[in-house]
Amino acid sequence: MKRVTFPHMGNLWIPARAFFQEMGLEVVVPPKNSKKTLDLGIKYSPEFACLPLKINLGNFIEALERGADTIVMGGGCGPCRFGYYGEVQQAILKELGYDVRMIVLEPDLIQGYRELRDLFGGFPLKRLFNAGKLAWNKILAMDKIHRLVLKRRATERMAGQVDKLYNAFLAKLDQTMSVDGINRLKREYRELIDDTRGKFKRGMEIKIGLVGEIYLIIEPFVNLEIEKKLGQLGATVEKEVYISNWLSHFLHLDNEMETITKAAEPYLRSFVGGHGIDSVGNAVRYARRGFDGVIHIGPFTCMPEIVAQTILPEVSQREGIPFISLFFDEHSGDAGLITRLEAFIDLIGRRKKIVNYK
Ligand code: SF4
Repeated sequence: MKRVTFPHMGNLWIPARAFFQEMGLEVVVPPKNSKKTLDLGIKYSPEFACLPLKINLGNFIEALERGADTIVMGGGCGPCRFGYYGEVQQAILKELGYDVRMIVLEPDLIQGYRELRDLFGGFPLKRLFNAGKLAWNKILAMDKIHRLVLKRRATERMAGQVDKLYNAFLAKLDQTMSVDGINRLKREYRELIDDTRGKFKRGMEIKIGLVGEIYLIIEPFVNLEIEKKLGQLGATVEKEVYISNWLSHFLHLDNEMETITKAAEPYLRSFVGGHGIDSVGNAVRYARRGFDGVIHIGPFTCMPEIVAQTILPEVSQREGIPFISLFFDEHSGDAGLITRLEAFIDLIGRRKKIVNYK
């Protein structure tokens, strides 16, 4: 039997494990991202490669060492380097002596379709439908509860209360293998997390919109748990980059991308790859919805986010919203990040007091 693995990105492993298990495959979940994952990735990747490529390579090596023999990952096209990830990683793994099959799901899905058919031993439609339904419902539940966690961290009555509940929810979600069970769990934890609600830690709500490159936004190890840090500083956070949103755009299940593109239009009219246009469009939308600030994050040297970074000062000035851009690489550290976040949130708090006083 094939032993499948995939990149570690936030909690994606929960629906991915459910999906492949339901398809009758053995799953090797890569260990959580750690210093060891990063070190492995850095050691064997080209120095100029983007940070997510390095971490994913580390994930793959760790999973292969645990017995995986097939890697499934997303592919891409367009102006940034994502389109080359699969090929580069495959070449590196081969050079390191790993006998691995790599299935890269490109946006046209044709090649991926053939490879998956081969992996699943045909296309058993009923099984595929059930596995997809289970995974999709886990994704929706996960993202819904995450949205609530981003709000309630800023108002929890006891430090760490929300994260404790969130971790318990994720552990139970992994074990739940029916859609009814997922919905029950979602309702239960929505109430429990809502019940933690106390006063705003800063005496007022500070609303931050988080924009940027998808891997950095979703994976807490690489963004140094920026969302948690903001919650501890008393800021509520909203973001649009979720796995459910990404899949909906990818499969054309909604027209959200049109809204984002329209919002970005006065500042950026062309596709620049990755989530560059989302970063600009969503920053504009947050400003128009009355948010207090925007935090933009990306991996060091990420081309689409560098384009967004050069445009955001104009968005900030014309739309009247403060922003900071933070780029992360293997040398980023907690202390520097905390200092910058504290300064930004303090500044926003003071600005808000002055505006309210007037
Ligand atoms: S979006 Fe940025 S980090 Fe991701 S592959 Fe493209 S250039 Fe690299």
